[in-house]
Amino acid sequence: MGTLPVVVLGSGLAGYGVAREFRRLDKDTPLVVISRDHAGFYSKPMLSNALTAKKTAQSLVMKPAEKMAAELNATVRARSGVRHIDTAAQTIVLDDGEMLPYRDLVLALGADPIRLPLEGDAADTVLSVNDLDDYARFADRLDGAKTVAILGAGLIGCEFANDLLAHGKAPLVIDLADRPLARLLPAAASERLRLRLEAAGVQFRFDVAASRIDHVGQRLRLTLSDGSAIDADLVLSAIGLRPRTAVAQQAGLAVHRGVVTNRWLATSAPHVYAVGDCAEVEGHTLPFVLPLMQQSRALAATLAGTPTPVVYPAMPVTVKTPACPTVVCPPPLDAPGSWSTELSDDGCTALFHGPDGALLGFAVLGSAVAQKQSLAARVAGLLP
Ligand SMILES: Cc1cc2nc3c(=O)[nH]c(=O)nc-3n(C[C@H](O)[C@H](O)[C@H](O)COP(=O)(O)OP(=O)(O)OC[C@H]3O[C@@H](n4cnc5c(N)ncnc54)[C@H](O)[C@@H]3O)c2cc1C
Repeated sequence: MGTLPVVVLGSGLAGYGVAREFRRLDKDTPLVVISRDHAGFYSKPMLSNALTAKKTAQSLVMKPAEKMAAELNATVRARSGVRHIDTAAQTIVLDDGEMLPYRDLVLALGADPIRLPLEGDAADTVLSVNDLDDYARFADRLDGAKTVAILGAGLIGCEFANDLLAHGKAPLVIDLADRPLARLLPAAASERLRLRLEAAGVQFRFDVAASRIDHVGQRLRLTLSDGSAIDADLVLSAIGLRPRTAVAQQAGLAVHRGVVTNRWLATSAPHVYAVGDCAEVEGHTLPFVLPLMQQSRALAATLAGTPTPVVYPAMPVTVKTPACPTVVCPPPLDAPGSWSTELSDDGCTALFHGPDGALLGFAVLGSAVAQKQSLAARVAGLLP
């Protein structure tokens, strides 16, 4: 038997990130990327500003699977789901029953949109956009729609709302929280974001949840938890993502919120690793691009023979809401400390300090976005 391959499950930014970094370090070991989608390379964050950028599901693909295969000197298997992993035999089984052996296996399976349990005869029309196929469906349904109700005023909900404005649609965002980006921003910064988005044309309904959705003629009626109702032409759900853990769980790997790994991205089974949205690295799920890039680099080095733990720099997240440019660098989860916020006419700077005065996180909006680099350097301890 020839050299066993490194097998990567998933062709998102995490899967291709590991594949690309690994190939830089190891030109020879066979590499296989397996994905249940088209396996074309695209940047998922573009899904929520594709209307502004005038992109279609097709034009979002930067490189098709064949090009990725050639560039990575890899076998890329598109539209191939993985059904089973046998960690003792070091094999995987695909949906069509084919069995493949691996030297090392990388789970880069991403996350599934969380679905609200909704009543009503139109509950099944609710869309979420988490990949290109979803986006194609969404873009299709947008034709002829005017009002788009968005469930969730988090990062993705606000980004889609802003993007829909560019397409002449009327977004109406509904959230159980009392403000947008409630988990990422302190209250005064949320308020600034809300005002700017409202001024641009986004409507919000806070402190309510949708409980049912029914067809009324050509339109949809959403019944909210306070008994009121609103009409829309399309409903988009953006209430969060849940790491895809089913395949790992069936294989007996340790799973908590995500597939549990240590700092070396190693799961509880030998030769099996996890990165990106499906992974819970040392207790943290970090479903953003910058963390998965750090993870990919560290794991590639490990797979190429130099065990390397992931180390994160300060990782600011840009919220793609041009009506109110926003950058957030959240403090570590459960870190003690408090926010202080400064507002000016055209900007907002919120700083999160720990009890010892160290800057642990920040959020900048509007003109204050210009400070993002110096603040990130302070969070990283590179500047006083
Ligand atoms: C609309 C939107 C906007 C975003 N904007 C930003 C942003 O501005 N900044 C930021 O930092 N982050 C952003 N994010 C988050 C970021 O895009 C994700 O963290 C990142 O793309 C996750 O990459 P991934 O490779 O882990 O997962 P995915 O891209 O979801 O890839 C998972 C892969 O696994 C494959 N797969 C799943 N199950 C199986 C199976 N059983 N067998 C085989 N293959 C399987 C899928 O086909 C897919 O190829 C955004 C996310 C969304 C949805």
